Amino acid sequence: MSTYVLPDLEYDFGALEPHISARILELHHGQHHKAYVGKANETLEHLEEARAQRDFAGIGALESALAFNVSGHVLHSIFWKNLTPDGGGAPTGELARLLALEFGSFANFKIQLTEAAATIMGSGWAALVFEPLGRRLVTCQIHDHQANLIQGSVPLMVIDAWEHAYYLQYENRKGEFFKAVWNLWNWEDVRSRLAAAQKLELEPERTATAALL
Ligand code: MN
Repeated sequence: MSTYVLPDLEYDFGALEPHISARILELHHGQHHKAYVGKANETLEHLEEARAQRDFAGIGALESALAFNVSGHVLHSIFWKNLTPDGGGAPTGELARLLALEFGSFANFKIQLTEAAATIMGSGWAALVFEPLGRRLVTCQIHDHQANLIQGSVPLMVIDAWEHAYYLQYENRKGEFFKAVWNLWNWEDVRSRLAAAQKLELEPERTATAALL
């Protein structure tokens, strides 16, 4: 059975300062993200045991744990690659064109995604996703790591809005953190995720999306 692995960061813990402190990044990657990977693998083991014993009394809790921990692993893995010490500014090319098409302008998109992050009740993420049925870009406000995400959609850029992402540095001023991440976006990474997502055909006949095409 394959297992999940914590990916290395492509930059040093201090590389995203002053926007994200080295200590936050060290804890966030080495403790929080690592824990989701470990618990995802543990859950896979428990499912294997359940199959071996033909005992599915705990299947509901295991499915919840799997969705939560694998989704945490997925989103953190994307988040680290979405960020770069040389990031920020605005995207160009196809990504810029689609953002303007869906949101009116890059400035509008920036406000919408930041507001989605700032208004999450409890723990969650704000994300720009490619929705492959309508083949469009939309924002999602994800609860925990997995709820409220449009089915089938592919996250292209994500903002971690859990307190562990900012509290050591920004305390209760989370709006400053959501503003600061705009200095770090790796638009080349977002662009490559968009190109990969656009190859998806969720509904090959596309009859359901005729009105959108
Ligand atoms: Mn996190």
